[in-house]
Amino acid sequence: MNYTSTRNNTLSVSSSFAIANGISTEGGLFVPTDIPKVTADFIESLVPMTYIERARKVLSLYLTDFTDEEIDEDTLGAYSTGFTHEKVAPLVNLHDNINILELWHGPTCAFKDMALQLLPYLLTGSAERMSDGKETVILVATSGDTGKAALEGFKDVPGTKILVFYPSEGVSAMQKLQMTTQQGSNVGVCAIKGNFDDAQTGVKTIFTDPAVKEKLLNNNMAFSSANSINWGRLVPQIVYYFSAYADMIASGQIVNGEKINFTVPTGNFGNILAAYYAMEMGLPVNKLICASNANNVLTEFINTGRYNRVRQFHTTVSPSMDILVSSNLERLLFHLSGDNSEEIKALFSALSEKGEYTVSDEMLMKIQKAFAAGCCDDTDTKKTIGETFNSYNYLSDPHTGVAINVYNEYRASTGDNTPTVIVSTASPYKFSPAVLEGLGEAPSSDDEFELMSALDSISGVPAPAKLTELWGAKPRFTDICEKDEMQGIVFSMLGI
Ligand SMILES: *Cc1c(COP(=O)(O)O)cnc(C)c1O
Repeated sequence: MNYTSTRNNTLSVSSSFAIANGISTEGGLFVPTDIPKVTADFIESLVPMTYIERARKVLSLYLTDFTDEEIDEDTLGAYSTGFTHEKVAPLVNLHDNINILELWHGPTCAFKDMALQLLPYLLTGSAERMSDGKETVILVATSGDTGKAALEGFKDVPGTKILVFYPSEGVSAMQKLQMTTQQGSNVGVCAIKGNFDDAQTGVKTIFTDPAVKEKLLNNNMAFSSANSINWGRLVPQIVYYFSAYADMIASGQIVNGEKINFTVPTGNFGNILAAYYAMEMGLPVNKLICASNANNVLTEFINTGRYNRVRQFHTTVSPSMDILVSSNLERLLFHLSGDNSEEIKALFSALSEKGEYTVSDEMLMKIQKAFAAGCCDDTDTKKTIGETFNSYNYLSDPHTGVAINVYNEYRASTGDNTPTVIVSTASPYKFSPAVLEGLGEAPSSDDEFELMSALDSISGVPAPAKLTELWGAKPRFTDICEKDEMQGIVFSMLGI
């Protein structure tokens, strides 16, 4: 199985090459040239399996230059100890045929762990095959959760260094504390004055600058990426869509072959794109429902075909979705265009020059066949958190709250009663102030940990130990830089 680039479809590389390099030299993203197909028997075989066994089956379809032993070791390393739930990604019934897929039982309490616990294994294996002894430098731009999850995944991994940039005022207090207190000898963290898109653009610029690349090479280093532009981030996420479907068969909610919906709280379009790959592989899916917060650029795009990033940026209670440029959409458009990299280059140069593009009617039809979309603001997000807790005794974080709200609207307006999985992407305790407000309790203090215990006693849901243990921890990384200082920070953190 080979991979090509969304901006150069004549390229053909292995999965190791795609993962080790992160992004293609001309700025395109790596995508599989053929999406593997599975049968009903394949899906049936997953039903009695553990999460690790399911992961092995799905991953081996994509990582064909990895040996079976390697995939066995990597999945065992990633999922056997770091997760506090024995099922890794448990499916919880909310009511009737509506389920929540909890993806936040990993070490940082957000769904990014699902991929970032595995990525260091995939990346070190890939780098061994590809980069002849060079040290791998991971650069990350984060809207909050990726940074911490990547730091946890890569800390003290031999042959790697990891540097994380986050928007100084654009992450929750808990997210900031998680990152600034990170341990490990190969890690660096810096805040930037700007929003997530600024951080992402800065990282992409450093990444694709030939002079920077050369300077790294001279020091026997090479960049890679832990952002969801890296194929090694996306492929682990395909697994849990199969896993959720298998669990729905196991619980008797569906029979194999019956279609289901997925609702995904979306920012950079990585998580929902993984669901699209699962669907293209043959997982029976009716609709993928893309849920956004007030930064509703994707809602408009999926409903009209026009992507316009020129708009006000909103800082919301679901900060990991505060994004106006959703990188992974490029991969979807490439597949839907029939692998037409010229068309993709034209769309994305329009995006960078004019701030917008509009896809063809034909492309829009294909998008709307697979996807529906909706959005909600902070007031409705909090209201949904409260209603969901009162009606079903289920405590959700604000990102999941957005998804539940958008799904309820979708079901009411379409009458589509297909069994549904709503993807839950973070522990409510990462966002205690907003969750408390949702429950109708005004936050009584500024202290994140007092709020966590307040939430704990109101909801009866225990706070994760990984978060409570940060109480009293001293921040280790306190630097803030301007956007145009990022490159200098990278060099100084690397000591080059
Ligand atoms: C990253 C993140 C999202 C958005 O996922 P994308 O793959 O970027 O669309 C949603 N919720 C939480 C909690 C996240 O950390």
